[in-house]
Amino acid sequence: MTDEQWEAQNGSLAPDEARARGLCWCCNGNGVLYTAFGGVQRSVRCPERCQGGKAKR
Ligand SMILES: [Zn+2]
Repeated sequence: MTDEQWEAQNGSLAPDEARARGLCWCCNGNGVLYTAFGGVQRSVRCPERCQGGKAKR
């Protein structure tokens, strides 16, 4: 997988769209954020500490 493909897993929802679908605005419902640089591909826990990608109430 290329770095671009890896980061594409973050999804492309705008924060407002994610919220409208009941998903965490930060991670688009993934629960993790995907970051890649120079071929090092990592996933990190969502800094919003959401529950499995669901929006907080
Ligand atoms: Zn989140």
